[in-house]
Amino acid sequence: MSELARDLARLVGAEHVLAGDAARPYERDATVFTGTADAVVLPGDADELAAVVAWAVERGVALVPRGGGSGLAGGAVPVEGGVVVATERLDRIVSIDAEAWRMTVGAGVRTATVHRLAREHGLLFPPDPGAAEQSTIGGNVATNAGGPHAFKYGATGAWTTGVEAVVPPGERVRVGGPHRKDVGGYDLTHLLVGSEGTLGVIAEVTLRLIPAPAASLPLVAFCADAVAGGEAVAATLGSGVQPAALEYLDGDTLRHVRAAYPGEIPDGAGFVILAEADGEPGEAAAVLADLRAAIAPYALAIAEPDPVPLWRWRAGVSIAVDGVRGGKVSEDVVVPPDRLADAVAGVAAIGREAGLPTCSWGHAGDGNLHPSVMVDPRDPDEVARGEEAAARFFALAVDLGGVITGEAPRALDHQARIRRAVDPAGVMNPGKKV
Ligand SMILES: Cc1cc2nc3c(=O)[nH]c(=O)nc-3n(C[C@H](O)[C@H](O)[C@H](O)COP(=O)(O)OP(=O)(O)OC[C@H]3O[C@@H](n4cnc5c(N)ncnc54)[C@H](O)[C@@H]3O)c2cc1C
Repeated sequence: MSELARDLARLVGAEHVLAGDAARPYERDATVFTGTADAVVLPGDADELAAVVAWAVERGVALVPRGGGSGLAGGAVPVEGGVVVATERLDRIVSIDAEAWRMTVGAGVRTATVHRLAREHGLLFPPDPGAAEQSTIGGNVATNAGGPHAFKYGATGAWTTGVEAVVPPGERVRVGGPHRKDVGGYDLTHLLVGSEGTLGVIAEVTLRLIPAPAASLPLVAFCADAVAGGEAVAATLGSGVQPAALEYLDGDTLRHVRAAYPGEIPDGAGFVILAEADGEPGEAAAVLADLRAAIAPYALAIAEPDPVPLWRWRAGVSIAVDGVRGGKVSEDVVVPPDRLADAVAGVAAIGREAGLPTCSWGHAGDGNLHPSVMVDPRDPDEVARGEEAAARFFALAVDLGGVITGEAPRALDHQARIRRAVDPAGVMNPGKKV
């Protein structure tokens, strides 16, 4: 055992420190990136976590917080070495207050568990990122994860009212709380939302819930191509109807997932829209009828499948695309929703020029695409070409009138200064975010 691992073992117990082969699974996430962990430490509570952070600051050792490792941005990968702090033992269900529509859980609780607990109490935790069985609520807060239903309900940050975190030099801090309104001082809870492990390690999260809608009625529309699909999306938004979700898959994505679709796909389909109406039964039926009326002029066929298999299919898209060549380089870009067809075509053109297969899918209602280049992760040259092609997706988004948030120099400077103020020793997830 290395000296470093021995130090950590004194803080959390030897059985909760991993090194060598046992650490390998913690050196990658859902991307093609890999790193090297000097050790992995699994604290059992916030006090142990605080001792680990204090130790890292004292020694100047990099700490990389890790939840389920389902991230699509390499955030949990120890690219500069150091110690991975895995939250899987911080998995306590602290409290569920069904009457007040809230829940407090450890950061390592899986997203799927949060959904299930809410459902068992007739409630809903709306954020639904695709890898819910793998991702943790701490990781969801740290990435401000969304999902199809973020179109109506917002991303994780909109549902996070309080956080307990351990920040350098090893202090436990509680920000926000269980209350729905909390306006004293700066909103430090939402400073941690989306901080990707660069400001501290989230130990516990208090979430706001809502009564589960009585009816959820999905609609799937198959269009001939992205032009027709883009017009259908624009018509839906223009009609003023509020779907709970408004998603798309382009024709290339559809090819990779069509075998698993829970229903019939018409010949000639080259673009798919997934929408959902929810609410009280009458309200959901009315929204569904409005959705159908807006989309039908542009569709080859419209179906109304069961929600559970449909959203399971949608959640499997990213993994199916990974399966095409073994891996992918994905980006996350935003364009004005009425430029969706141009964005889809632009992604394909970038792929053709790079000589690599591409596809895109995402949250059509927000104009949020996940353009992806499929690569063989064992081929470093192909991965490098994939990364180069993926970098061009940002320029494409900007050309189409999209924005890359937080990229303005002043905003970056403010973020870097906040980061230095919280973590002057620079131990928290170096090389990430800012
Ligand atoms: C198939 C699939 C579908 C997906 N769909 C979506 C989607 O629709 N929308 C979406 O937003 N994302 C999506 N994702 C991405 C991913 O699931 C989310 O980003 C998720 O929130 C990451 O959670 P995690 O616990 O796996 O975090 P990790 O991957 O372990 O970590 C992600 C980042 O958060 C930090 N972090 C993790 N836990 C903590 C903590 N306790 N304290 C501080 N920092 C922490 C890490 O350092 C890292 O920077 C998808 C991923 C996959 C594989």
